[in-house]
Amino acid sequence: MNGKLKNNEKQRAAERKTAWSLAEFEVAPQEGHVRFHDLSLPDALMRGIHRLGFEFCSPIQAKTLPITLDGVDCIGKAQTGTGKTAAFLITIITDLLENPLDEQFDREPRALILAPTRELALQIADDARHLTYFTDLNVASLVGGMDYDTQIKQVKGKIDIVVATPGRLIDFMRKREVFLDQIETLVIDEADRMLDMGFIPDVKSIERATPTPENRQTLMFSATFSYDVLNLANRWTRDPVTIEIEPEVKSSDAVEQKIFLVSADEKYGLLKHFLQHDDIERVMIFANRRDLVKTLSGRLKRDGFDCLMLSGEVPQAKRTSTLEKFKRGDLRILVATDVAGRGIHVDGVSHVVNFTLPEDAEDYVHRIGRTGRAGAKGKSISFACEDDSFQIPALEKYMGAKIVLEYPPEEWLDKQKGG
Ligand code: AMP
Repeated sequence: MNGKLKNNEKQRAAERKTAWSLAEFEVAPQEGHVRFHDLSLPDALMRGIHRLGFEFCSPIQAKTLPITLDGVDCIGKAQTGTGKTAAFLITIITDLLENPLDEQFDREPRALILAPTRELALQIADDARHLTYFTDLNVASLVGGMDYDTQIKQVKGKIDIVVATPGRLIDFMRKREVFLDQIETLVIDEADRMLDMGFIPDVKSIERATPTPENRQTLMFSATFSYDVLNLANRWTRDPVTIEIEPEVKSSDAVEQKIFLVSADEKYGLLKHFLQHDDIERVMIFANRRDLVKTLSGRLKRDGFDCLMLSGEVPQAKRTSTLEKFKRGDLRILVATDVAGRGIHVDGVSHVVNFTLPEDAEDYVHRIGRTGRAGAKGKSISFACEDDSFQIPALEKYMGAKIVLEYPPEEWLDKQKGG
């Protein structure tokens, strides 16, 4: 780990020393597209964007950035995969670079991003480190389940951007390891998930520790706008602009979807059939509960499949290493719960299997959005038995389209049965 970190830092130092000018980032204007060049962003940030290979703003970036770069509050209805992370990070980084402080105290970040899960927080922090690659801005990630001392070291000196899960941030505030009274931008990501997971009391305490809404910029994102989400938005933002982006998958045909009608005890055999016969590059298998994820992953392992699981009960270090392995392509099969699997963006996931149908249509959209990324085609295979098939009409209604239903041929179902 340390060796890797050193190498990265070495490489970064070397890259930063090389000369660069905006002329190297050439993107011809295109009808209907906004270029990052059109937004007068600082050069150091443009260089980071160029290094990431982005050319045009995604729709949510094109809609939010002209507003948020002016310091206006925003409530965005958008899911992962839309580019919302870069939208709020570019806003923050531009503000920090354009308004440097004469004096900045240690442990007093200027921007705070709250996310409901460790995975999402770490992914945002990673994106932030990429976008700040050519700047002197520091990013800290404070998330539960990871070594406390390492995280304390991150906030000891000058720190600009903190990405945190609510519980761990509260610990840091109580221990007076971090102070939020200099926060200029507050981002609350996946507000609906924060509500679902019971984090709102923590988020409220955190919000109170930052300057009042009049004295900060607040950006809130949520995949859904429930009454509760809008109520919080109303309290925490000031004259916000609301922006809605349709979920990627709903309007895209990048993912071929099929639902197989089976009995509960035929599901495992059918899963094995797909794992053995379909052209699977990488697959994420979703199940509704942690215990089911655990049983399924254990059973696949016993049957000789190289697979790992991702769920709330897996220790953080193990979750991180599992995700890394999956990203590198050293792991082909990942079994996950909705919460653990949400927000994970890994290119090259050729298949998503819904071992059980989710209770919430939005979770279905999130799940199938893990495949069909970056211009690739993806397949979503769902298994519906007596217990899940009643949800199909609600799914179709939400997706605004019929999903192909099929009975699998007898030979696809393993003789040796069991749910
Ligand atoms: P997000 O919705 O923030 O989870 O982002 C989804 C993915 O899109 C991430 O892998 C980003 O790196 C990528 N991305 C974000 N903005 C752009 C852009 N303007 N052009 C290309 N890729 C992008």
